[in-house]
Amino acid sequence: MKHAPISTLTQHLVDHGPDHPVLFFAPERLHHSARVFQQGFPGLTTYAVKANSDPGVLENLVTAGLHAFDVASPAEMEAVRAAHPKAALHYNNPVRSEAEIAAARAYGIASASVDDLRGLMTIAPLGCEIAVRFKLPVKGAAYDFGSKFGATPEEAEMLLRRAADLGLPLAMTFHPGTQCTDPEAWAVYIQTAARIAARAGVRLGRLNVGGGFPAHRYGQAPDLHRFFTRIGEAVVQAFGADTPALVCEPGRAMVADAFALATRIKAVRDTGAIFLNDGIYGGLSELRDIGPSDRIRILSPQGLRRQGAAEPHMVFGPTCDSLDHLPQPLALPGDATEGDYVIFDGMGAYSLSIATRFNGYGLGAPIAVTAL
Ligand SMILES: *Cc1c(COP(=O)(O)O)cnc(C)c1O
Repeated sequence: MKHAPISTLTQHLVDHGPDHPVLFFAPERLHHSARVFQQGFPGLTTYAVKANSDPGVLENLVTAGLHAFDVASPAEMEAVRAAHPKAALHYNNPVRSEAEIAAARAYGIASASVDDLRGLMTIAPLGCEIAVRFKLPVKGAAYDFGSKFGATPEEAEMLLRRAADLGLPLAMTFHPGTQCTDPEAWAVYIQTAARIAARAGVRLGRLNVGGGFPAHRYGQAPDLHRFFTRIGEAVVQAFGADTPALVCEPGRAMVADAFALATRIKAVRDTGAIFLNDGIYGGLSELRDIGPSDRIRILSPQGLRRQGAAEPHMVFGPTCDSLDHLPQPLALPGDATEGDYVIFDGMGAYSLSIATRFNGYGLGAPIAVTAL
C-alpha cells in the first residue's frame, strides 16, 4: 500500500454514509492468504489475475513475495508487469489470436498452456514451457471448468510427445473447477497426469495443479492445509522418483476474504421485497451462478449490527432489468430497514472484475481499510 489505510469498514460507512455500493479491501487479509499458500502449498504459488486485477491487489501480492502470475490476455500481462516488472507470466488461456501471441512474445512469457495441436504449434516458436491442459469429468466444484478447455487424456499424451519432440520444457496442468471443496478432485487429476506422462514417455519438469481452492462461503472457513497435504501425498504416490515441481494458481481462495461489499437498502417494498443499490450487474453477479454465501451482516447507518430474527426476503438490484435479483430469498434480520447497509463478506473474487455500469449503477475503485 502506498497510502496505509486509516479507517475500518464500519467507521467509513458511519463517517461517509455512502449511497453507492462500496468494495472494501483489507490488505492485511490478502497478506494472510498469501502466507497461507506460500508457507503451506508444497511448490510455487502464483495468482490467477482474472479473479481480481485491481492494482492494489497485484501490488500487495508482490509485496507479499509473489513473483509469478496466471494471465489470460495481454491486458492482464500489462497489469502484472506494472506491479512487478520482472514477474513470470504463465499464459494459461489456451485459445490465442495471432496478435495475442505476438504480445506474449514481447512480454517474454515463461509458460503457456495448450490443449490442442494447433495451439501448440502456434505458441511453440516462443520456446517457453508448455503446460498441457487436460480435463476429467470430476465432481466437487461450484461449476465445471472442463466444459471449455482441456484435452482428453489421449490428446494430452499426444501433445506431450509433440512438445517433447520440439525440445520444449514440459509441464501439465488442470483446473478442477472453482470453489472445489473436495481434495480428492486434485488427487484424481494428479494420478491421471502421472499416467499420461508415463504413457507419453516423458518426464515433467512441473505440474500445475490449477486454482479452484475454496474460499469461506458457508459455515466454517475451509482448511486449505487439507488440500495441500492431499496434493503433496498424491504427487509423491503417483510420480515416485520423478516428482515434478508443483505450481498452484489460486484466484478465489487468495483474494475472496480480503474484500467485503457494502450495499445499501434502497427500499423495502410493500411486498417485503428488498431493493439494494447493487445487484447481479454489479458486485453480486457471481451470486446468480453459485448462490449467496451465509456471510452477510446488516449495519444501521450508525454502524450498529441489526439483530432481529431472520426473515426471508426477495432481493432485487437497482437496475430496471427484471433479471436483476438474487436467485433465492435471503434471510435478513427482521429489523433491517431502508438506509441500512447489507455487507457481503468474502467478496474479493469475481466481483470487481465482472461488474458493469449498467443503468448508471456499479462499483467504484475499492477503498482500503484496516479491518472489514
Ligand atoms: C480462473 C482460473 C484460475 C483461478 O480459479 P479459482 O477458482 O478462482 O481459484 C486458475 N487457473 C486458470 C487457468 C483459470 O482459468
